[in-house]
Amino acid sequence: MNTKKPTQITIARGDGIGPEIMDATLRILTAAGADLEIEEIEIGEKIYQQGHSAGILPEAWDSLRKTRVFLKAPITTPQGGGFKSLNVTTRKVLGLFANVRPCVSYHPFVDTKHPEMDVVIIRENEEDLYAGIEHQQTDEVYQCLKLISRPGTEKIIRYAFEYAKAYNRKKVTCFTKDNIMKMTDGLFHKVFDEIGNEYPDIEKEHWIVDIGAAKLADTPEKFDVIVMPNLYGDILSDVAAQITGSVGLAGSANIGDGFAMFEAIHGSAPRIAGMNKANPSGLLLGAIQMLVHIGQQDVAEKIQNAWLRTLEDGMHTYDIFKENLSKARLGTKEFADAVIERLGQKPQQLKPISYSNQSANFKITLKPQQEVVKKLVGVDVFICSKQRDPESLAKRLQVSNSDELKLSMITNRGTKVWPDGFPETFCTDHWRCRFKPNNASKINYADVLTLMKSIHETDLEIIKTENLYEFDGVAGYTAAQGQ
Ligand code: NAD
Repeated sequence: MNTKKPTQITIARGDGIGPEIMDATLRILTAAGADLEIEEIEIGEKIYQQGHSAGILPEAWDSLRKTRVFLKAPITTPQGGGFKSLNVTTRKVLGLFANVRPCVSYHPFVDTKHPEMDVVIIRENEEDLYAGIEHQQTDEVYQCLKLISRPGTEKIIRYAFEYAKAYNRKKVTCFTKDNIMKMTDGLFHKVFDEIGNEYPDIEKEHWIVDIGAAKLADTPEKFDVIVMPNLYGDILSDVAAQITGSVGLAGSANIGDGFAMFEAIHGSAPRIAGMNKANPSGLLLGAIQMLVHIGQQDVAEKIQNAWLRTLEDGMHTYDIFKENLSKARLGTKEFADAVIERLGQKPQQLKPISYSNQSANFKITLKPQQEVVKKLVGVDVFICSKQRDPESLAKRLQVSNSDELKLSMITNRGTKVWPDGFPETFCTDHWRCRFKPNNASKINYADVLTLMKSIHETDLEIIKTENLYEFDGVAGYTAAQGQ
């Protein structure tokens, strides 16, 4: 007698095509014998409209905390300020740091320009520009903070290498834009090199994201696992999924320490909602990742092989339907029926899936950080001024020069405009004014406060400050463009 308890999971049917693809997915899971105890929560548009700006009822978190496994259909994020994306919130509050997005082509059964493609994109999920810290600072200038942390980066890079090891992948590629963002993306690249050294059997490469993205779109077969900061991963996983044949063909796992959420990579596709047209494959593949995660590899394998056989048999939803390739154009429900009919069968030409001996649950541990010596070596004071003349702004600011701190540079949108600026440089009302110590003497934060008080008394408007530090003698800030 089987005494093993079913695994508890939480599901949400979401918005748009969500309920249809969730129904199809759950019918297939049940027919395949997935051993699940399902709790349902409501999320999305209806909840936003009830005034919950996060799109989820407070009590729904209790279910998630209990089951720690979430199968989520896409939701519609309302446009406009005040509403927060539930997807981003869930990933961040539950610490789901790794977003795993396999993008595979199914040639010759699904039309694609890239028959050999089998790429897994591992996207950092918690930080970067998705920290959601944005401010309007002046009439003209808005800011979004890009935060990249060492622990966040170490976790995702190590996850990518551990994933490659567990799934027998040969190469891990990293995309960043560290030729421009030398500190944030620079850290991501540096940690990739450091941690990569611990995996001598895995090939490693780094591309600047622009040429990397071009190569991925042109020759995806040359890539294996790709690890990226959040924004690049978000954009490029859609590109990668779409060029396999349809964005509707890719699932996604969001993995944290003790929590996981599984979904399709696409959105709620409101234009085809309620029409029994949507391809349920993305959510189904997310659910298959979930089954592997909870230790039901046999059921995962059974469903994925039946699904591959369904594609091989030309049973296609509208998004992948092609007269010369497909045998039937099926609705969402009928596609699910076609998969159910094939449970127990294997693909004949595509490679059958085997998840035995594979567990996606590797533990990521961080090495303790070494102590560093941090020294205050100046301050950037951001000023709002509609007077577009850097020379006269410098003169007004120099009144505040003290024995400790002295104006050394002014930039506008990062480009040096004083001293020795170019008259051609276009200036907004947002000025970054760098004050450095007068001599090699030590400064402290009280000196910064004295400086700010003095600037304030000149009637200039300070909109924010950013301390300049050295860490073990290395500058923790960048030079200006043109400096
Ligand atoms: P989308 O992914 O919903 O749709 C993009 C295109 O792909 C559309 O042409 C759509 O018809 C098609 N498509 C998507 N899924 C499909 C499927 N399963 N079968 C067949 N065709 C499919 O992107 P969008 O239109 O930019 O966004 C719609 C809404 O979804 C927005 O409110 C957005 O915020 C939300 N969204 C949610 C998630 C999520 O919940 N994880 C992710 C992305 C977007």
